Amino acid sequence: MEKTYLMVKPDGVRRQLVGKLVQRFEDKGFQLIAAKMFRMTREQAEYHYEEHKDKPFFGELVEFITSGSVFGMVWQGENIVALSRAMMGKTNPLDAAPGTIRGDYALNTGNNIIHGSDSPQSAEREISNFFRPEELAAGDYPVRMPGSLAN
Ligand code: UDP
Repeated sequence: MEKTYLMVKPDGVRRQLVGKLVQRFEDKGFQLIAAKMFRMTREQAEYHYEEHKDKPFFGELVEFITSGSVFGMVWQGENIVALSRAMMGKTNPLDAAPGTIRGDYALNTGNNIIHGSDSPQSAEREISNFFRPEELAAGDYPVRMPGSLAN
């Protein structure tokens, strides 16, 4: 089953949006298999955003992401990487459609509330940066969607 790493960033945690954001992904039909509130170390942050290390915003980004608690989660479900990215909306909230998370809650790119892996490979890399394998639940509870005949 495809997995992704989703994370409420420090701005979303400060704004008490964790519950609402978890609800969106549950409502969609995805399964939460691990979650924790924690403060990222500088090493974890630099590894997480390694692809941006030569960008002008890298220093600020690492400062921001380590500035407070984040809520890191592992989710699984069909096509979850692409679908969760669609639910998050574009990186710059100016381009993020209303109805998406960033479209509904964020004003600027530096404070865009949520992170989500951009490929299954990134997801694996990101999950292992923040979770030990034994912290992941099996995801063996049944997802019951409205109208589903499955029990
Ligand atoms: N970011 C920023 N300034 C920029 C571009 C990106 O502060 O000009 C931050 C922003 O928080 C973004 C993160 O860097 O979410 C990672 O950028 P990426 O392009 O990977 O966007 P994402 O995958 O988060 O949509």
